[in-house]
Parts: sequence; C-alpha cells; structure tokens
Amino acid sequence: MTWSTTEAAAPTGAGPLTDALSQLDNALEHLGINGGIKKMLTTPRRELMVSVPLRRDDGSIAVYSGYRVQHNFSRGPAKGGLRYSPSVDLDEVRALAMWMTWKCALVDVPYGGAKGGIAIDPREHSQAELERVTRRYTSEILPIIGPTKDIPAPDIGTDERTMAWMMDTYSAAMGHTVPGVVTGKPVSLGGSYGRASATSRGVAHIALMALAARGMDPSRTTASVQGFGKVGRDAARFLAAAGVKVLAVSDIDGAVYDERGLDIGRLSEHAERHGSVEGFEGTEAIDPASILTLDVDLVVPAAVEGVLTAENAGRVRASIVVEGANGPTTREADAILNDAGVLVVPDILANAGGVVVSYFEWVQANQAYQWSERDVNDRLEERMTRAWHDVVDYAGAHGLSYREAATALAVQRVTEAHRLRGLYP
Ligand code: GLU
Repeated sequence: MTWSTTEAAAPTGAGPLTDALSQLDNALEHLGINGGIKKMLTTPRRELMVSVPLRRDDGSIAVYSGYRVQHNFSRGPAKGGLRYSPSVDLDEVRALAMWMTWKCALVDVPYGGAKGGIAIDPREHSQAELERVTRRYTSEILPIIGPTKDIPAPDIGTDERTMAWMMDTYSAAMGHTVPGVVTGKPVSLGGSYGRASATSRGVAHIALMALAARGMDPSRTTASVQGFGKVGRDAARFLAAAGVKVLAVSDIDGAVYDERGLDIGRLSEHAERHGSVEGFEGTEAIDPASILTLDVDLVVPAAVEGVLTAENAGRVRASIVVEGANGPTTREADAILNDAGVLVVPDILANAGGVVVSYFEWVQANQAYQWSERDVNDRLEERMTRAWHDVVDYAGAHGLSYREAATALAVQRVTEAHRLRGLYP
C-alpha cells in the first residue's frame, strides 16, 4: 500500500489530467481565485496506490496496479466510480476524481469527488477472476472507503456485479451488511430502481433541452452516438423514443449506419447476442472513427476520454455535442468547437444523471427504504433540469461557454464550502 500526498499534480503532455487542470485554471481565473485555494483544488486530498495480486484460474499469479484518488471532501464524502481498463493510470484517475468533485457540486449532491481504477482488461478474465481481483482491490482500499468516507460506483469495465462483490467484501470486514458503501448495486441487494439507466436518461434530458435551446425539433433531428455500453445504449434508446433519428452508433469493435434511423431496440438485442453492434442486419458498416464527424445535428460521445481532438474537431458537422463520456473533448478540440459555434454540453452536466441516482441510492440505503422507479426518475429529471438552467443562466450572465460556466459554478460551490468549514487546524 503506497500513500502519497502529492504536490499539485503535474501532468506531462496531453491527456485527461492536462484537460481537467486547464478547465480548472480557466474557472479559477474567471472567479479570481489563486494562491493557496488554487493549490488545494489542484491537488487531490488523498491518493492510494495498491498492487492487486490475482490467482488466475490456471493457478498462476498476476499482479495489477490499482488506484483510488479522493480529490475533495469539502461538500461531503468522496464519490465516484471504479474503472477496469488497461489504460488506467494515476493521472487518468486523478482527472476523473477531479471531474467528480465538480459534477457532484454542479448537481448539488452532498459529496466530494473520487475515482478508482485497476489497470486490467476485464474482457480477458473469467467471472471468477474478476470476482477475486475485485475483492482483493476492495480489501486493499478498505481503510479509506465507507458510506461516510468514499462511496464507489460502476464506471467503464465494472457493473452491478462488481458492486455486489465490493459491498460483500466490505461488509464481511465490518461484520455486518453495509449497503451504503457502494452504489450501482443490483436492485435486489439495495440498488435503486432507475440507477442502471440513470446516466443515459440524464444525457437524453440534457440533449433534449439543448435541442430546445437551439430551436430544434427532436423529430426533425438526427444524431450519432459513440459507445453502446452503459451510457450510449440507453441514451440512444431514450433519444430515439423522443423522436430523434439515431443514424449511427459505434462500439469498440465497429460502427453501423442507417439513414432511416436505427431501430435501437433491435440493435440492442443484436449487440446482446453478438457482443457488438457490428453486423446488424439492414445497416451499413462505417468507420468507427467517422462517428463524431458524420452529417448529423447531435453527436453524443459516450465512450472514453480524449476522442474529440485538434485533429478531428474541425470536421465536426453537428451543431450540438453532448458529452456522455467523461472528458471526451481535449482542450484544443474544445476551443475549435467553441470557435465554430458548436454547442458543447460538458460531461459534468450531461452525464451527471448517474451520480444523481447514486445519491438517491445512498439516501435509500441510509433510510432503509426503497423508492419507486417513478419517484427516482421524477427527482432525477428535476435535478438535471435545475442544473441545466443554472449553467445556462450563469453562461449567459458571464459570457462563458457551457463548460466554463459549469466548471466555474461547481468550483465556486466547492470553494464556498471550504471557506465556511475553514482550514484545520
Ligand atoms: N462513474 C460514474 C460517473 O463518472 C458514476 C459515479 C457515481 O455514481 O458515483 O459519473
């Protein structure tokens, strides 16, 4: 177990941390904040690096690097997902943890921000191996998580099963069941109705409000969605249900296009059966790299960070980009899109539905009372709508882009909490 209390995180070159720090810099400059507070917001409060040994099914032992970064606690316990992907490293987790702080503040849930990850490709492991790796990682980070300390949730490569194993491992160590230690659990284990599709539902609410702001009628709008996983799949489904013609979607293996609009329900069944959208009958296979630059009105990057870059941003033809993924737009791409008049709705607003319902799940765990799906969905819509108007109003009042406005609002709320609490000792 390695504890590190770093000086201000200093990324080298391009990457999510560079993007996150540059967004923070802009917000701080706008708010006129510098000095010690700037340093505190730039520096994660806690970073834990662990090595995670795994006994493989064949008896051999592999060792993976695991991380949990807690960026901020000013507004409450840290909150954020757990990612399993070969690309996970400390700087990526730092960036994602910082974005969680802003996201939670923006939708006004009483949390700070955190993120965890293991540099592992879940597709190369059996369920039994994933269970062992999850339980070992959980026990390694156990001292710093808990329902009042830091509450993990699913992210790329993890799901409700992962959360069930984490909850069980933590509970075994405590000697009693602790449902509030993670969110995104199976509903039968204290998970919330509506959590599984909450991020996507929020993305769709925000996309529809963005269309309305631009005077566009959903039934005359076309879209493409990058990613057909936890976020992209249901986002495509909700958009299609609202009348938007989703012309193309992609996943890690390929991309499909139908000029009449894809049947998302049937595409989901196909992806379920074949493990990919590739080969869906009646569609044209297209280059997955072209999904962000197709001739559509709305683009939803809902896969990974850093996909809209200086190289392709100038070729984006959509007038609206709604960030389903965390950090899909690099800072260079952000400037290019803004200059071109493309409305970019930032991740910390667009994909906040997931953590909003995570918060509802945690509240339900604390109350030991389960809300109805309708209750959850209504309250989610209310929170997303409020956050949308907060950002639009702030952007209008200060002449900022939506990303600048969302980050500045969030940073202001975190700074205010910090100021009221004071610095100990
Ligand atoms: N991983 C999700 C995100 O990036 C959800 C986090 C949570 O629910 O805590 O927002």
